[in-house]
Amino acid sequence: MPVCQNCHNKWSWKQTFKRSFTSTLDGMTCPYCEEKQYLTSRVRKGSTIIPFIIITLIMLSNLFFGPSFVFFFALLGLIPLFFGIYPFFVELSNKEEALW
Ligand SMILES: [Zn+2]
Repeated sequence: MPVCQNCHNKWSWKQTFKRSFTSTLDGMTCPYCEEKQYLTSRVRKGSTIIPFIIITLIMLSNLFFGPSFVFFFALLGLIPLFFGIYPFFVELSNKEEALW
């Protein structure tokens, strides 16, 4: 779970999850010290690359096995899993980092 870089309190899964999907772009407010926290560029890179990997896998499976709805739905099933584990990989930074 992420640790606030300002007050060093650990955020819970629920706190991280809620903030990740409501206020990522302009920073996330820490529930303890109310300071703005930002995702590190590493986490932001990962969270933009993973959807591309999923889409590529769907395309490749269509190419090799023909349009397969089973595989498509299996991958769709992975998406909630991805959101479920996402808060475990979140890292926080005091200031906004350049993405690349
Ligand atoms: Zn804090």
